[in-house]
Amino acid sequence: MRYNPDYKIGDCVVRRRGTLGNMDGTAAPGKVELIEERHGHVMATVNFGGRLDEHVITASDLRKIPKEPCRLCRERGKTWRGDDPTCSFPDGGEFDPEGWNCATANRLRDISGQDEPHPSSDYRYCEDQNYTTIKIDGIDLPSGNAYALWMTWYKHRGRTEGMWILSVDEPRKPTEADALAIIGALSTSNP
Ligand SMILES: [Zn+2]
Repeated sequence: MRYNPDYKIGDCVVRRRGTLGNMDGTAAPGKVELIEERHGHVMATVNFGGRLDEHVITASDLRKIPKEPCRLCRERGKTWRGDDPTCSFPDGGEFDPEGWNCATANRLRDISGQDEPHPSSDYRYCEDQNYTTIKIDGIDLPSGNAYALWMTWYKHRGRTEGMWILSVDEPRKPTEADALAIIGALSTSNP
């Protein structure tokens, strides 16, 4: 009898080696739906095909699982010596300000107007902080059409610190798909 010890919730894995899992050890086991603190214990609620089990877990049961980098990061890989890149669009999701040298973020930086003017970009800087507003109306954005993509970063550092899509609704973070649509529409080289 084998057990699959990994249970995912968000970007965490609950590890209960040898105590939970599918009897055949093949398919993904129960899905962790909730982790909460109760009565001084951290409890995981695990859904096994509709049957909910609760299990006490400890901090050592939780570990980060690596996130999948965006498509352009995967295609580019690491082309320099030094620190590994950190994707700004992990798991194909929305922009993460902790990214560093993400290939998709860098492609947006290429059309930001910092190094050469771009007709769609209103680039500014102040005290070594760069910011730009890229006009994106007329581009079919997967998350819904918008007016502008606003970005900021420091000097030429690899970390892109902020990105917001501005529209009639609340500002929102772009997704990888949004970023690719903008690059596809405004970049002179195809993504
Ligand atoms: Zn990336």
